[in-house]
Amino acid sequence: MKLRTKIHLFTTLLMLVLIILVNFGVYKLYEQLSINTEYKQLELRGEELVTTFNQLTTISDPYIVLRSYMPSNGAIRVAKENGDELLTVSSPSFEFVELNITSREQYAMKELNGVPIILIEIPSIWSDGNVVKFQLFQQLNDVATNRDLLKLILVAVTILIAIPILLSNMVLSSIILKPLEKLNHVMSKSRSSGTYEKIDELTAGKDELAEISRTFNEMMDALETNYLKQQQFVSNASHELKTPLTVIDSYAKLLLRRGFTNEKIANEALEAIVNESTRMKDLIAQMLELAKNKEHVTLSIEKINLSQLIENVSLQLRQAYNRDFQVHVDKDLFVQTDEQRIKQLFYILMDNARKYSDKEINIKATRDNQYVSIAIQDFGIGIPDDQLPHLFDRFYRVKQDRNRKTGGTGLGLAIAKDLSDLLHIEIQVDSTVGVGTTFTLVVPILFPEKEVDNQ
Ligand code: ADP
Repeated sequence: MKLRTKIHLFTTLLMLVLIILVNFGVYKLYEQLSINTEYKQLELRGEELVTTFNQLTTISDPYIVLRSYMPSNGAIRVAKENGDELLTVSSPSFEFVELNITSREQYAMKELNGVPIILIEIPSIWSDGNVVKFQLFQQLNDVATNRDLLKLILVAVTILIAIPILLSNMVLSSIILKPLEKLNHVMSKSRSSGTYEKIDELTAGKDELAEISRTFNEMMDALETNYLKQQQFVSNASHELKTPLTVIDSYAKLLLRRGFTNEKIANEALEAIVNESTRMKDLIAQMLELAKNKEHVTLSIEKINLSQLIENVSLQLRQAYNRDFQVHVDKDLFVQTDEQRIKQLFYILMDNARKYSDKEINIKATRDNQYVSIAIQDFGIGIPDDQLPHLFDRFYRVKQDRNRKTGGTGLGLAIAKDLSDLLHIEIQVDSTVGVGTTFTLVVPILFPEKEVDNQ
């Protein structure tokens, strides 16, 4: 069943059932109240009749008294205790029906041809000293007429109310469903065309549907951006892998042709093959690092001695590359962070400083309020201002040919950015072409509470 039909059916039926229940209640209440009023009047009449009988010492013609108290469209019967009839008077059109009052009831009722007949009984002492009961019957014609009229009115009201309910349900369901149909249409179009379609008209309002449309559009934007990024990444990656593979391929062929007869060529070829395969290995390792789902990484946050860590990383690079790393770090700077990840971050930045400069490299760390700032300064080639905004993009290199010699992949800073985001570290860059570059890391001393709790 379609949603539209479901909404129609459910709301209309629910409303109709409610209206019918209310109307039924009104009808029954009215009927009960009118019968009660009639009962009270009949009881009053009966009591007056019994009082009159008791006051009269001699009754020449009891029929005259009974008639004068006889209800219109009714009857009075005087019966002995065992039910035997003593006297009866009735109006001409009145038809007797079998009615019995139980001990718990004040009156008895029965319907005859759609008209209720009520009976009440009042006990008294008859002139011969025996107990008798005065039975008063009355046909409630007015109650029947008014009740029928009310029934008619309530049915008419129900029908009259049902029409606007039906109409309003139709309007309401189209208000709700139209945007959903539109959304469905846009989604189907996106799926069949493979594009990232958006909803335009619905986004202006402030209601939930406008909210859904806005969220949908934002989601489409995000998907599109991700898709483009992914495409870019794949094309960059394949391009990057193609170059070393071509080099390896051509040197291997050279080796096959002439390598073993010429030691110089063989050495050159093998060196190139080793270099390029190392480069490929690094590239693949970095790509895997970037491809990791950052949402689900588990950080191991602990209090670490940052001064010590900086000393260690510098020492390793100093020994590996025989370069001058000058460390000016305050003693015992402790921070809460993930040791392995911050170490990786330092490696990337210090290694870049080494790659893109020939002179000494200065590393300074100072505590500043709630943060420790670490500046890694080199006196190398520097980065032009217009290139700074792209520096952290994947595969971005300031000048493709310039970095080929350094063996860079253009992924180091992208990884550094991911790591710093993960550790809530801010990275600042300050560079002048031909003078040098300073990368500054601003590390929070206390790792943000929420993140620690999530671990
Ligand atoms: P790569 O593997 O090429 O070094 P990165 O992502 O680490 O990739 O760096 C991106 C680019 O930023 C580098 O290619 C280089 O041009 C530039 N760069 C990074 N660090 C420095 C630096 N300290 N001095 C000069 N240029 C730098």
